[in-house]
Amino acid sequence: MRHEAFNFLKMIVATPSPSGFEQPVAKLYREYVEPFADKVTTDVMGNVISVINPGASMRIMYAGHMDEVGFIVHHIDENGFLFFSTIGGTDVATEIGQRVRVHGKEHVLGVVGRKAIQTFQLSDSTQTPSLKDLWIDIGATSREEAETVVQVGNPVTIESALAVLRGNYVVGRAFDNKVGLLIGAEVVRSLAQNGGLHPDVGIYVLGTVQEEIGSRGAQTAAFNIAPQTALAVDMGVAMDYPRARPEEQGRLDLGKGPGISQGANTNPVVLGILTSAARDRQIPFQQQATGGKSPTDARVVQESRGGVATGVISVPLRYMHTPSEVLCLDDIQATIELVCEFCRRIRPDTDFTPLATAEQGTKRLAV
Ligand SMILES: [Zn+2]
Repeated sequence: MRHEAFNFLKMIVATPSPSGFEQPVAKLYREYVEPFADKVTTDVMGNVISVINPGASMRIMYAGHMDEVGFIVHHIDENGFLFFSTIGGTDVATEIGQRVRVHGKEHVLGVVGRKAIQTFQLSDSTQTPSLKDLWIDIGATSREEAETVVQVGNPVTIESALAVLRGNYVVGRAFDNKVGLLIGAEVVRSLAQNGGLHPDVGIYVLGTVQEEIGSRGAQTAAFNIAPQTALAVDMGVAMDYPRARPEEQGRLDLGKGPGISQGANTNPVVLGILTSAARDRQIPFQQQATGGKSPTDARVVQESRGGVATGVISVPLRYMHTPSEVLCLDDIQATIELVCEFCRRIRPDTDFTPLATAEQGTKRLAV
């Protein structure tokens, strides 16, 4: 991966963006793409849209959600302890004892506390911890003191810096889906600098908001942009760790390229273009099956207006929605190349109607 891209990843991972509070990361994304894109705008929801060839008749939408799961302070007690709700789905068991940042008047350091193991009843050690048993301790001794720096409604994020493991593996918080945002930013840069996009094909690369609470940003953006085709690039749950059961959920390995999803959320023509692009350019990828609705922005984009031909690409990620997500940088690079190649293969008259190319699409799928 390019040095600049890795530095951008480090920067956006260190920048808080729980759903509804994405502005700090949105600013960084705008600054990264502004030298390359023909146009960069921000809509009323907070989505950032960077466009190459804005006047083109064929519009490709790229959705990489820039929000992350987090917490929000909903009560401060008389002793200065903060009580909180989740923003999106987090694993409560992984939050206990973590350092957090409360984004109030200042970015205040705190820790997620609960009663000590020495005071456990028998039932405490057998029950899954619940949010109601936890609080945030910022070291304040009264509500008044706490309220000098934080207040109800402030977002909270886990404090955990990106670090390099062995090889090209890295660990960090909120890779879901800052990685999708990084890939989008690099796609804009690469298509602008290296070319290959048809002049009558426009690419709208979005950092979408509020995906973790129901893909709300992608929904309104798809309506505004009215794309004919779209890709959602998000993180996929890796199934390559001890005692993973691929028999139940399929297999997805770190370091073997992105997952390309097959299922109702994937248009057969889009799927055919993605898989043939990967094979022709020798970009590694893994086939994935999605039986129901895709848990990505593709779900709502596909249903926008009269329907959009969508595809879903997943970067394999271990320990998703925990403070220590793990991924392989090679998968990011492969995804950047795959998305660029997909965009270069779209023509102004590409027909995404499944009926027109079902036979061809099936042939393309056969290995
Ligand atoms: Zn995600």
